[in-house]
Amino acid sequence: MKKYLKKLPKEVQDFIHLIAEVAALRGMRVYLIGGFVRDLMLGAKNLDLDIVVEGDGIIFAEDLAGRLKARLIKHRRFATATVIIGHNLKVDIATARSETYPEPAALPLVEPGCVNEDLKRRDFTINAMAIDINGSSYGSLVDIFAGKNDLAKKKIRILHDLSFIDDPTRILRAVRFEKRYNFRIEPRTLKLLKAAVRKKMLEIVQPQRVRDELILLLKENDPICRLKRLHNLVGFSFINRRLKLTKSNYQLLKSAEGEISWYNRVHSRRRPLDSWLIYFMALLDPLSVADTQEVCAKFVLRKGEEKRILSYKKIDKKFISELSNLRLKPSRIFQLLEPLSYETILLIKAKYGSPGVRKHIEEFLKIYNGMRIYISGHHLQSLGIEPGPVYQEIFTKVLEAKLNGLVKTEQEELALIKELTKTETGYGKA
Ligand code: ATP
Repeated sequence: MKKYLKKLPKEVQDFIHLIAEVAALRGMRVYLIGGFVRDLMLGAKNLDLDIVVEGDGIIFAEDLAGRLKARLIKHRRFATATVIIGHNLKVDIATARSETYPEPAALPLVEPGCVNEDLKRRDFTINAMAIDINGSSYGSLVDIFAGKNDLAKKKIRILHDLSFIDDPTRILRAVRFEKRYNFRIEPRTLKLLKAAVRKKMLEIVQPQRVRDELILLLKENDPICRLKRLHNLVGFSFINRRLKLTKSNYQLLKSAEGEISWYNRVHSRRRPLDSWLIYFMALLDPLSVADTQEVCAKFVLRKGEEKRILSYKKIDKKFISELSNLRLKPSRIFQLLEPLSYETILLIKAKYGSPGVRKHIEEFLKIYNGMRIYISGHHLQSLGIEPGPVYQEIFTKVLEAKLNGLVKTEQEELALIKELTKTETGYGKA
């Protein structure tokens, strides 16, 4: 493996030597493991180092972070830690352990172990290799499941027949890795995967664990082709019993993909999208509001995620027909779209692509959304207006006038306020 390690950037190689040195001082052995080793052998860029420690991983992580004055995040419950160095180097540290599953799909019982035991608890042969970085063994591959061979033959293979029963989330992982590297799930693994699907294992496992894997899948490049594969192999009843991939949500996924790339191209300076959420919303499109709420609750989605999903669900014909009206005033476009997230807005654009909807969404994102007024509370105070909820009302009116092109400069905004305070009795003077 030395030839692979030598290809790493110099700072990463130095860092790996330092890891070994820090471990040696404690009499511990450390190994590069899992995804990092897989990607190193594939020549895929991955600067997230995964390491396991034969010994206490938390103590080792504290030593390493102390030595580097780096940021340390500890997860005592799992005996794991993350050390973050600078902007782009991260090490996930785990205590080598063995796992046994007390019952199907339950959380495993964990005990400290050696590197070989740690490899046995992993998902696929290509993820179950380690590189010894200790002293004179530096660079030797630990490959007890012939992962190197599977990597060369582009195969996704589980380590033992009960793998998908022990942990059904591996079904989603298999699809994720298969598509990412253009590998194939090998025949026996595929047979066992299908058997686990028939036993509805994905419906037994804790939904939050399924959610985490589903989100990772949706964050990959080209999530639609992964969803198609998942639909063929598994179906979507593990999300909701009525959910299927139909012509209509497939088409919506495709046009959502187009809108995401349009946004990333045209609005690259704006907030990065949670594009996985847009794909998820598109997939859930055929479900009723009640079923969608059930999915959000089952997967314990974050409040912000649930809010965005449900706000899309609540878009009705009246909203769309108003937004489609080509004579709509900018202030009204703003009122309609401003309360919605970019994710929701883009999915509306993908689904209801009438000329009016497209035009208004594009104008909203390009012009109205970033529009600011000059006047502030300070101005209102100096005009003698008593502070209170009235300030917000005035700001809204000024913004509306600005959106509609009725005021442009600070002077014009001030003139409008004077006008408003003259005519509207509610704007009390101090
Ligand atoms: P990615 O490139 O997507 O980060 P990764 O392989 O690093 O891929 P992680 O989810 O970070 O994926 O997991 C790190 C390692 O932990 C994997 O390579 C695998 O060996 C192991 N692993 C993760 N999830 C499971 C699981 N459900 N069952 C068994 N092993 C797992």
